[in-house]
Amino acid sequence: MTGSARITRILILGGTSEARRLAEALGGRADIAVTVSLAGRTASAPPLPVPVRIGGFGGADGLADYLRAERIDVLIDATHPHAAVISANAAEAARTAGVRLLALRRPAWVPQTGDRWVEVATIDEAVEALGQAPARVFLTLGRNAVRPFAAAPQHIYLIRSVDPVDPPLAVPHATYITARGPFSEAEDRTLMERHRIDLVVAKNSGGEAARGKIDAARALGLPVIMLKQPVLPEGPSVETVEEVLAWLDHAMTFATPRGV
Ligand code: NAP
Repeated sequence: MTGSARITRILILGGTSEARRLAEALGGRADIAVTVSLAGRTASAPPLPVPVRIGGFGGADGLADYLRAERIDVLIDATHPHAAVISANAAEAARTAGVRLLALRRPAWVPQTGDRWVEVATIDEAVEALGQAPARVFLTLGRNAVRPFAAAPQHIYLIRSVDPVDPPLAVPHATYITARGPFSEAEDRTLMERHRIDLVVAKNSGGEAARGKIDAARALGLPVIMLKQPVLPEGPSVETVEEVLAWLDHAMTFATPRGV
């Protein structure tokens, strides 16, 4: 057996555009079997060129069991930076199952000249940061994070999410946009102008796909209530899909054959 034969089975924890690009880059390779795991939060995920499994594993123990049962050699955590639970589970499961782990972590956005960010740690803090005076608010947090805004019904909301917010938010004034990004700065600027937005609420997601609204808010001089990234587990990580591919090539070249 050659050294490169050792890494044959890869599990990608997905739900991001990077996970998709990684699956597309690895999908055609005959030397490895790649599976993508999705939580199943979005009803409309476009098809991927590799096998996909959907749904939770049942915590870190469940994920460790899966890694052993499927004889996974490498686990790639390519989840969203705000998906902290699955990242913590990945770190623990990889350790207990003895599987190599690499995290693909986009660098967080940092404020630039002209940005007017109010950084908050939780969604409840974001709701509070809107203030009492009625404002026109662009919510771009994803449909699973908008419920707490029902506590501030005086505002007029523009809510964008991949899947519909169902049931709708219990507030008198809300407009919904169902769309999948990326959205350009120009598109988001036009949208915010059309809806006369006063402020934007966003997660610090890092990367390019979601940053159009942040650039647009800066250009329009609008404040952004920015949900900070949660603390993620320590461990080997890279920032781009290309770096994951290079890491894998290196790991496959220098892997020790099983049983040696
Ligand atoms: P989370 O809070 O970190 O995870 C909650 C639970 O969902 C996990 O404990 C796990 O269930 C399950 N899970 C999460 N990601 C999974 C995956 N890729 N495959 C299988 N099970 C998964 O996650 P979240 O914030 O709800 O995000 C869910 C998914 O949406 C993630 O995959 C993430 O990449 C994607 N996403 C999240 C955001 C965001 O803002 N949070 C934005 C865009 C995309 P078990 O414990 O039962 O295994």
